[in-house]
Amino acid sequence: MLEGKSGGEKAAGWFLSYKWFVDVLFGGIIGVGCYFKYSGRVWGRVACPLAALMHIYARFSQFRIFADKKKCISCNVCTSVCHQGIDVMAFANRGLSMEDPQCVRCSACVQSCPTGVLSFGRLLKEGKPLFDDLPASPVQMQEALKNAR
Ligand code: SF4
Ligand code: SF4
Repeated sequence: MLEGKSGGEKAAGWFLSYKWFVDVLFGGIIGVGCYFKYSGRVWGRVACPLAALMHIYARFSQFRIFADKKKCISCNVCTSVCHQGIDVMAFANRGLSMEDPQCVRCSACVQSCPTGVLSFGRLLKEGKPLFDDLPASPVQMQEALKNAR
């Protein structure tokens, strides 16, 4: 007949219940509860230590995504493709450079913009943008080809 649980069984039981607790708390209650504010990246935006490190790097980074405001048709494609949940359109249709520390520079927004509004570049110390030489989206590639003819 079984008596009380051994130390190992108790530790395994505690570990399993801890895993359940973390899964239910982060994946369930907080994850679902915060979805509408933070989209699907609650851990990355709120609790990830790597994301915290990226915030520090971003403070010193000159990297920006620049927007040519007059080309923006406010279609929201850039915001909808950003898996980091960044409201790219809010920067683009005001002509502001995008410097959200959550940005992982995946280029999805730049590539998907149907009118070639967005470009990668660096913000120089004088406050002027320095655009990357290579066109970053199919629309910009077509524009560059047209201009070269
Ligand atoms: S995808 Fe391009 S045109 Fe559409 S809102 Fe974003 S920046 Fe503007
Ligand atoms: S480069 Fe990627 S992560 Fe950064 S804003 Fe655009 S879609 Fe989002």
